[in-house]
Amino acid sequence: MSSGRGGIRAETFSLIQELLHEGMAQRAIAKQADVHRETVRRIARGQQAGEVLDYRRCPGCGGLVLLPCLACEV
Ligand SMILES: [Zn+2]
Repeated sequence: MSSGRGGIRAETFSLIQELLHEGMAQRAIAKQADVHRETVRRIARGQQAGEVLDYRRCPGCGGLVLLPCLACEV
């Protein structure tokens, strides 16, 4: 187990998106990325919502994310 509380790294966020895109089960992704399943679910929900995802440039990590940023919680 890693870190405990707090957000996830931007690269982990990208990995989760990639695995979701490949169709991996959310439970398996959570295990592989070492994050809570709820985190995976949240990202998956964002993807499934489709069209209007309010992606913003995060001032913390510079990534294109759904604020609040999962990576740095700004
Ligand atoms: Zn960020």
